[in-house]
Amino acid sequence: MGLLSGKNILVTGVLTDASIAFHIARLAQEEGATVVLSSYGRVHRLTERIAGRLPQLAPVIELDVSNDEDLAALADRVRVHVPTLDGVVHSIGFAPEAALGGNFLNTQWADVATALQISAFSLKSLTMAARPLFNGGASVVGLDFDASVAWPKYDWMGVAKAALESTSRYLARDLGPENVRVNLVAAGPIKTIAAKSIPGFEEFEPIWNQRSALGWDFSDPVPAAQAAIVLLSDWLPKTTGEILHVDGGVHAIGG
Ligand code: NAD
Repeated sequence: MGLLSGKNILVTGVLTDASIAFHIARLAQEEGATVVLSSYGRVHRLTERIAGRLPQLAPVIELDVSNDEDLAALADRVRVHVPTLDGVVHSIGFAPEAALGGNFLNTQWADVATALQISAFSLKSLTMAARPLFNGGASVVGLDFDASVAWPKYDWMGVAKAALESTSRYLARDLGPENVRVNLVAAGPIKTIAAKSIPGFEEFEPIWNQRSALGWDFSDPVPAAQAAIVLLSDWLPKTTGEILHVDGGVHAIGG
């Protein structure tokens, strides 16, 4: 029996087969789950194509996390495929170019607001949109980049991740009585489309090469995906509001 046998999981954020979410969806199916994917706008077609590379073809529903109509329609769109959800994966991040890359002191509020809405507030929007589908409990898992320190070039995306961390704790507080767990996986740097859009992403490489006790492969999203699978499973039943670091140990090691 797989770790996720019989569970229905909504996975957002599959863009390419390098996406962390692609590997979460793949492993979830391998562990026995039924997976529904979401995508949005002009990348929807791409997600459908990538869905064909999963062990089983997964349906792709439309969800732009900044679109209120999509959020209101989410439960009905999911119900076309599965009656209830046991897990939701938030693997979504976006910041306008002006909010990244060393321009921290000059970024305008409109760009910061977009980064915060898409990358942090959306954890609340997505969870609330999926809430009517939860059936006596659920596990919500988001993808984080350790926001306890300031990183090179990460700028307002780092602030958005700090907001994501706090949002997950408040969701854990308010939804715990409904047996809904909300946790984050804080992954080390992985070369995905989102990572390539961060100018100066390569500045993380010497940091991870020097400080990761276990070593780090920048092209391997699987360890982060495996952690998400464990959080989606029944094996961490009293864990919520937690940040599980999958970074080779960098968060624990001084310079
Ligand atoms: P990715 O580019 O494959 O995934 C980002 C996803 O966000 C894409 O699928 C994109 O379609 C989606 N997205 C953006 N705006 C959206 C919107 N308005 N509505 C719905 N979806 C939207 O890259 P990834 O690295 O797999 O990123 C997934 C998550 O992992 C992000 O939260 C990212 O910050 C986080 N993360 C990434 C790294 C890394 O180094 N790659 C490290 C730690 C955490």
